[in-house]
Amino acid sequence: MNKDIITPPSSTLGMLGGGQLGGFFAEAALRMGYKVAVWDPSESAPAKRFATHKFNAPFNDKNTLNEFVSTVDAVSLEWENIPVELVEAIQSKKPTRPSSRSLGLAQDRTKEKRFLRDNGFPLSEYQVIKCASELVEVDQELPWIVKTATMGYDGHGQWRINSDHEKDQMSSQIKGEGPWVAEKVVPFDMELSVVVIQGTDGTCVTYPATENIHENGILRMSICPARIDPSTELSARNLATEVIKAIGDPGVFCVELFLVHPNQILVNEIAPRPHNSGHHTIDSFSISQYEYQVRALCGLSITQPFHIGNTVLLNVLGKEATELSQVGITNLILKTGRARIYMYGKESVRPGRKMGHIIFSGGNIDVLEKEASEALAIISDQ
Ligand code: ADP
Ligand code: MG
Repeated sequence: MNKDIITPPSSTLGMLGGGQLGGFFAEAALRMGYKVAVWDPSESAPAKRFATHKFNAPFNDKNTLNEFVSTVDAVSLEWENIPVELVEAIQSKKPTRPSSRSLGLAQDRTKEKRFLRDNGFPLSEYQVIKCASELVEVDQELPWIVKTATMGYDGHGQWRINSDHEKDQMSSQIKGEGPWVAEKVVPFDMELSVVVIQGTDGTCVTYPATENIHENGILRMSICPARIDPSTELSARNLATEVIKAIGDPGVFCVELFLVHPNQILVNEIAPRPHNSGHHTIDSFSISQYEYQVRALCGLSITQPFHIGNTVLLNVLGKEATELSQVGITNLILKTGRARIYMYGKESVRPGRKMGHIIFSGGNIDVLEKEASEALAIISDQ
């Protein structure tokens, strides 16, 4: 596939996966004059609210593959579990960014970690186990987090092991298909993430690192810029850029990092797509991560964005969405003048499911964080 190919506005962009990330991509693409074809097996996938063409078949449906390929001019993705074979089939016919190269790495933790280790990037100690009974043979300092190699997200498919006793217990309890990685728990001071955009000519642009606060493995709040010193911030951006350059695939990526006292930064994982911790870029930068996804896909200019202001993102999880949908509660949050509510239009509410988010902007970070915490207390009924 010709790397320099440019896909002009009015073309149709294909999106594999129809979640909220695909929805924000579609909004950016439509604004810029493109049409969007969304392929997701769920008829009610959030991105279909913005789709010009909708494909509802499973990802292994050959007829849909042919129809999709003939509808679109270029293709991107928003979910790391899109089958690699599907992306390989599409990229042989249409420009596809990111390609199966970064997708294949990011969707399998064993490949991702081997790639990072082989390229000399710092990461937590880990061992790969092929079946649960091998857990007892893992010889590294406790505690660990055991993670499924594939299909994990938002802390799903992860178990913490604190003691030899739990190690024995867990080896008979873990079910499902291996392999897994047993990873040492990192005593981090802070979690960071950096969104990196790589153009087709290798140009890389980064946003400031965000400070991420997780609860039970799910992102709760994300603060931009992170409250770290400028040299640490620069190191985080440089490390994330080096990782993405080493992969060498054009597109939008996010590198999740652990900041460990006093000044060590470890790579946690790589997402080959825009990231939850980058939603704020819609409000706080002249170019959002979704517009960059369009630009990188279409071969348009990849240039440094301008910063508009600080933000704190609050994720709306599970039944907090039901609470928030009451007019009185919505109004209470809107009253501050700093909150922008984004709801994804998901039909079913499940515990911990990302239903929407609220961006607080227009003040200093302490004020924004206080307002986000107050909003959380209101929607979580505390
Ligand atoms: P995913 O985001 O795919 O569910 P992650 O590996 O990013 O998986 O894990 C989710 C969260 O769990 C992380 O953001 C972090 O809060 C916590 N976590 C994961 N691995 C470790 C680790 N080795 N040490 C400490 N915390 C971890
Ligand atoms: Mg993660």
